[in-house]
Amino acid sequence: MQYSYSKLIVNLKNIKNNLNIIKKIFKKTICPVIKANAYGLGDIPIANFLVRNKCKDYWVANIIEALKIKKSISNINIYVANGLNKNEEEIFFKNKFIPVLNTYEQFKKWTTFLNKKKNFKKLAIQVDTGMCRSGMQDEDILKVYNERSSLKKFKEVIIFTHLASADEKKSKYNNDQKNKFIKIKSMFQSPNCKFSLAASGGIFLGKGYHFDMVRPGIALYGGKLFFNKKLKNVVSLISPVIQLNYLKKGETAGYNQTYKAKKGIFTATIPLGYADGVKIKISNIGHVYYKNIKLPMIGRISMDLMIIDISKVKNELKIGDYLEVFGKNITLDDFAKISDTSPYDIITSISDRCKKIYVN
Ligand SMILES: *Cc1c(COP(=O)(O)O)cnc(C)c1O
Repeated sequence: MQYSYSKLIVNLKNIKNNLNIIKKIFKKTICPVIKANAYGLGDIPIANFLVRNKCKDYWVANIIEALKIKKSISNINIYVANGLNKNEEEIFFKNKFIPVLNTYEQFKKWTTFLNKKKNFKKLAIQVDTGMCRSGMQDEDILKVYNERSSLKKFKEVIIFTHLASADEKKSKYNNDQKNKFIKIKSMFQSPNCKFSLAASGGIFLGKGYHFDMVRPGIALYGGKLFFNKKLKNVVSLISPVIQLNYLKKGETAGYNQTYKAKKGIFTATIPLGYADGVKIKISNIGHVYYKNIKLPMIGRISMDLMIIDISKVKNELKIGDYLEVFGKNITLDDFAKISDTSPYDIITSISDRCKKIYVN
């Protein structure tokens, strides 16, 4: 017996396609970003798949994510972007996580700790080149520079930064940040020092942005396909019809009567609402697809449900048939645009009520 539920279909073959495109452009270390449950796609299955495809380094936001992944997957390097916060030295050390040191204070705390442990493997530092979010600012960078001889004992020191406008190819800000990073790089010229600037967008800005490691997230998962025409869509969101109704001329659908039928229409209800990550903003604007036929969303999106005008396909569509919200007929990017948000926001908001189905 099959239950009726919404499904997020994740096409692993297309993740591999996207990874291979990056591999073609960039021959050094690729560090996939699997924060936020691998952008909602499922961190464990995605990381397992990427491990099978030879990725050894991973980027997450915080220690909770790192601990969850570590339970299932060993022998990978996990960079924890939010750095070393209160009393976290032991837990980082015990689990071999690499804290991304975002301030001089974190740097001091962690290197002092590692000195005591006589452990000098990887050290990760983030520098701020214009995002003003996380990473050391000039004063802190200078302090580390003044202690640069202490970096020599580490097997590898990797210095990260992050672009603020990598999705705007023409933005001058990218070049400014790159130049600032090159300056910082020149301060830390030692064979054990490596550098990483590019996330998805930066990878496609050209070789000058590549350095030693790249950190792709969205490009692997099928968002921002405009970065490169060979990137493929990865996720599809589909939802089954659970009720069919008829709305007479003049009747209204949904909360607060935001939709009023101009003529009699046939409607379907699907179990997908704003609690599943469909934005309320798309109410009365968005569409879903039956095969390749575009059907309007009507009324206000509810928490768990939405209503679709299915008049165009009323003779064909049955209870249990699936309607596509995004995927083949409309890309994640275009769906995000209509929702007045980013593809990142859409996929990281898809609820666990949508069962993830991995296809090859
Ligand atoms: C989220 C994030 C990434 C990945 O960004 P994408 O645009 O999804 O490739 C890389 N680096 C840092 C610092 C991030 O915060």
